[in-house]
Parts: sequence; structure tokens; C-alpha cells
Amino acid sequence: MAQIDIEKTYEQLREHMRRISHYQHAIALMHWDMEVTMPSGGIQTRSEAVAELAAHAHNLFVSDTTRQLLETLLEHRDKLNEHQRRNVEVLWDDYQRAVRLPESFVREEAQTTSLAFKAWQEAKEKNEFVRFQPLLEKIVDLKRKEADLIGYEEHPYDALLQSYDRGATTAMVNRIMRGVRRTLVPLVENVVGEWGEAPDVPLEDYPEEKVWEFIMFVLKKMGFDPAFSRQDYSPHPFTIDIGRGDVRITTRYERDNFTAMIFSSLHEWGHALYELHLNGEERFLPAGQACSLSIHESQSRLWENVVGRSLPFWEYFYPVLQGYFHDRLMGVSLLDFYRAINRVKPSLIRVNADELTYHLHILIRFELEVALLMGELKVRDLPHEWNARYKALLGVDVPDDRMGVLQDVHWSHGSFGYFPTYSLGSFYAAQLYEAATNAIPDLEDQIRAGEFGALLEWLKKNVYAHGRLLTSEEICERATGSPLSIKSFVRYAKRKYTQLYMAKELVGRY
Ligand code: MG
Repeated sequence: MAQIDIEKTYEQLREHMRRISHYQHAIALMHWDMEVTMPSGGIQTRSEAVAELAAHAHNLFVSDTTRQLLETLLEHRDKLNEHQRRNVEVLWDDYQRAVRLPESFVREEAQTTSLAFKAWQEAKEKNEFVRFQPLLEKIVDLKRKEADLIGYEEHPYDALLQSYDRGATTAMVNRIMRGVRRTLVPLVENVVGEWGEAPDVPLEDYPEEKVWEFIMFVLKKMGFDPAFSRQDYSPHPFTIDIGRGDVRITTRYERDNFTAMIFSSLHEWGHALYELHLNGEERFLPAGQACSLSIHESQSRLWENVVGRSLPFWEYFYPVLQGYFHDRLMGVSLLDFYRAINRVKPSLIRVNADELTYHLHILIRFELEVALLMGELKVRDLPHEWNARYKALLGVDVPDDRMGVLQDVHWSHGSFGYFPTYSLGSFYAAQLYEAATNAIPDLEDQIRAGEFGALLEWLKKNVYAHGRLLTSEEICERATGSPLSIKSFVRYAKRKYTQLYMAKELVGRY
């Protein structure tokens, strides 16, 4: 065998991955356009075009070229530096996973989920679960098959979780969710019991253009630069990484609560900061890619909730907000506004839930989807089980399936294993923020002064810099000194909500 030039082979791998990333660039832009500017009549052709490009990208990745390059590099891994070796190993994991699902399975799943999405929309509109039931049964069967094809060590659900969070396990999520049940359920009861009268803060019918102007002012203070980002409107807010130096976010205006636009923008901006500050040179390799959905969500929730719903943040921005809307907010104190944006109240709809009860919504979905996968729960019994758990855990009566089991799109997409990443994201956010606070003792004062640079630098160094070369758990352990637990979140919640109960006593300060 001829002498192998390992640097040259590694360069060939980079080129190959760069080529694949160009397809993803086109797909991302087509998606953005579909959600933001495309006339709805274009949907059919656009879906076909996206599917075609996605198939090309997939085929390039599962090709013999990829396998040969990776095998050669792995064989000579001792000649690679640590960084190169990790890139190759993570890509090999991706490759293994991608080739385990035969094309016939991928096609069957794509067909089933596109039918299921339509059936789910109709079922939700007509409030008839039975219209969705047969397709959901088929999806559950396919998910079992997928878990078997991908393989797992302990639990079939592990194989599905891995699509969203490489390295996460059912055992780990179970441990975290036991913590939710043990600590958050009583905490919610406590907070709701203590809350008392809701402050009278007018939140509806704010002029849309001025809310937009205000949030753009806030985002610019938080590093938004029109040379690298833009914000637009879309029905469902999202963040999309189009390519290096081009990360876009969207938001929406809600007439009954103008703060929805503010918090959705802060949330998406948290996702965008992560994408913008990944290693641009390596963006088509794991080193330059986001770690996992859980870590991505930790970044959006850190900026939206931990920073964006905090008192120091609003000590800086509330006077500005009052300046924009003096007729509405001049008579409203900072503390009343702070209480209004942090109200805890058990409710039916996950996406509108507060920071605490949110995790009870996730706990229910996680336990139900594991039970479905394991055959311990039949799809036909799902609505009944859903309603019973909402009553037991949140104390609310579900009036119909539209407000209950049909509210989320995820299962119709076949996204089993996705829901837990939302809660893990919040808990990672709390734990990372606690570590950042220890490293930057005057962090609160900085936020109170509208300064976010030191926090961003800490996140760059401790989270963004690792790309996808470490798992979520490894990033967490290195950055905070311990594996993920719910403890930091509970400490954060107790401190925050104690302060909120005591708000009246603090009035003198403001
Ligand atoms: Mg998000």
C-alpha cells in the first residue's frame, strides 16, 4: 500500500464536508423564505425542491467516499492531532447512525409523517383525536423499528433521544424528571398559594411598530449587528443559521400581550448568539457546529428567562420601555411589571406556560411517549391518560383534545425524544449561569448597567468553543464542575420566587 499522506486525506474530508454544507446552505435559505416571504402557493414545488436537495446531501454523506476517508483517518488516528481526531470520531458516529436506516425505512417514515401531519391538523381543527389515532399508531410502530435499527445498550428510547442530544440516555432523563416531580411539584403549589393578587399591568393593544423598535433597541444592546443578522416576522418564531456570518431570527406580535414579542425575540437571539459565535472556519465539521438541542435550548432560555426575566435586566430596560409607552406604563412600577412577566399559574397549553409549570408539561409528555414506545400505553388510551395526568399534576381539567393531547405538532412529525431537550435546556441554563456568576462576581451589576459582554465571553469560552466535539454532559461537567442536576434550577427558582413574594417589602428601593 502506498504511503498515505494523512494531512492530505484530512483535507479531502474537509472539502467533502464543505461540499455537503453547501446543500445545507441552500436548504436553510429555502426554509427561511418558505416561512417568511414565500407566497403560500409555492409550497408544493418548494417542498419537492427541498426534499431533492436534502436527498443529495444525504447521499453524499452516506457515500463510499465518506466511509473510505473516515476509515483511513481512523486507521491512522495516532497521526492526527486531538482536534482532528475528535472531528473524525464524531463524524464516524454520525455516519454509522445515518447508514443504519435503510432508504426504504426513511421513505416510509417520511410518507407516514407527512400524512400524519395533515391528519393531526384536521384532528385538531375538528377536535377529533380518532382522525389522528391510526397514523400515530403507525408512527409508534416505526419509532420502535427505528430504535431497533439504530441500536441501543439499555433502553430503546435512548436510540431516539440520541437524534437530538448525542450521549443523553433515558436513565439520565429519568433521574432529572424524578427531580422535577420531587421538587418542582411542591414548589409550584407553594408559589401559586403565596401569589395573591395579580398586579394590574396593561399588556394588550400596544402599537406593533413601537414594540418592534423597542425590541430592536434591546437586541442591539445585546450584540445584534445587521451585518450578520436580521429579524423578521413569521407565524412561529425560529432561528436559522444560513451560513457563516448570516444567522436570522423571527418573531411575532401578539395583540393581547406585547411582551410575547420581547421574550420570543430574546429567546431566538439566545439561539442566534450561539450560532454566530461558533468556530466559523470549521462550520462544516463537528468542531464548528452546535452541540445538541439541549445545549441550544440552554442558550435561548438563559437569555430569555435567566437574564431577560430578571430584575437587574429590567432595572436597566424598564425606564427605556416606559419612555416608549409612557401613556401605558408611567403609572406602573418596575416591581409590578416584574411580577406581571413572571406570573406562575398552572395552565393547559405548554407554549404559554411559565418558567416553573413548563417542566410539568414536559414531564407528562416524556412519560407518555416512553410508555407508548414500550407498549405500556395504547394510542387509543392516550387522550384519557393525558387528561388524568394534567388533573393530577397541574390540577387543571382538560376541556377537549384540542387543548389537550392534540396541542403539539411533535408526535405528528415523529419527533419522539425531542420534548425532554426543552427541560434539559432550562436546567443546563441554570447550572451554566450559576457557574458564570461564580466566575464573574459582579455579573448582576453588569446586567443592571446593560452590559452583557462578560457573560457572552464566558459562554464563548465554556460552551460555544467546544462545538459538537463534546457531548452536552461533557460541556456541563467541564464548565460547572458537575454533571447536570436540577439543583441549580431549584436554587434559581426559589431565590427568584421568594423575591417575588417579598416584592411588596422591597417597594421602598424602587
Ligand atoms: Mg428554542
